[in-house]
Amino acid sequence: MNATEKLDLKSMTLPELKELMADLGQPAFRAGQLFSWLHEKRAGSFDEMTNLPAALRRELAERCTLTRLTVLHELVSRLDGTRKYLYRLADGNCIETVLMHYHHGTSLCISTQVGCRMGCNFCASTLGGLVRCLTPSEMLEQVYETVRQAGERVDSLVLMGIGEPLDNYDNVIRFLRLLTDPKGYNLGQRHISLSTCGLVDRIYDLAKEDLGITLSISLHAPDNETRNRTMPVNRRWPIEELMRACRDYFKTTGRRISFEYALIKGVNDSPEDARKLADLLDGMVCHVNLIPVNPVKERGYDRSGAADIHRFAETLGRLGVNATVRRELGGDIDAACGQLRRQYEKGEALA
Ligand code: SAH
Repeated sequence: MNATEKLDLKSMTLPELKELMADLGQPAFRAGQLFSWLHEKRAGSFDEMTNLPAALRRELAERCTLTRLTVLHELVSRLDGTRKYLYRLADGNCIETVLMHYHHGTSLCISTQVGCRMGCNFCASTLGGLVRCLTPSEMLEQVYETVRQAGERVDSLVLMGIGEPLDNYDNVIRFLRLLTDPKGYNLGQRHISLSTCGLVDRIYDLAKEDLGITLSISLHAPDNETRNRTMPVNRRWPIEELMRACRDYFKTTGRRISFEYALIKGVNDSPEDARKLADLLDGMVCHVNLIPVNPVKERGYDRSGAADIHRFAETLGRLGVNATVRRELGGDIDAACGQLRRQYEKGEALA
């Protein structure tokens, strides 16, 4: 870090804040007070941190940034109350965050990068490539700002917005540790799912982090031939290697793996595909989420018909695979990730 660069305070761990307080000639307990203002009380400004001496607050304001996001646009679903936020980052880039209401509580879907470089050919988020990775504080603020905006607590989190979380590994791990810190927001690790297109080397790393989170794999095809065509990452790490990493994740963490499978008409939705998928998952402790693909204008894919979706799910069930068709939320506000940001970047009118 160069000398003029400000410290990203909200991305710092408690031990790092302790070091900072020592550098500033402050007693160690100030670090705990500061951590609480940042992550437990989630203060919007240094002025709110009233138990810190005024001189320290001034010094912090000079040397550090207090990351905040600006709401550019908010869409609320009339069907189910799903809320989609388009947030502006300090450098002018924008990202999407989606708040969903389920029977079991409120779930938040956050972005981990501005854009994405994975190139999945059914996905809107990757169309413009990767712009940059998000910092831990920018991921935290998607939670904190949405809680401020919506006025309700978030009970669970999915890393399924824009970006590939394992392509921003260190920042994502730091973010998860800060968000689950009992002295901060204190979200339970068991209420977090991380979704990946399959960066195999990082799945092995993640298993060793001792985080009790759920790993969600974007599989979307039952064989290498189809997956090579729709998901370029498969050419680097084919399905067999991905499955080996998933088995290792389960063995190390004891956490059931979740597989995402977007059904695309005529591409991956035949009964034969369902049988291949069942073979692939044979003996694995897992759950399959079937998702009717969300059509993206630039991609020209259609979602599978209702009868085909039903038959696919039934075939899996008959072959002993635990599978459900995901209930769609926010269907009227284009809740699928990446589409709102894209409209905004292209200067199109937002609904
Ligand atoms: N990069 C990560 C997380 C972000 S995408 C990953 O690949 O898992 C979140 C989920 O939405 C992934 O399962 C992704 O494959 C899926 N997805 C992307 N575009 C989609 C579309 N048009 N319809 C349905 N699901 C889509």
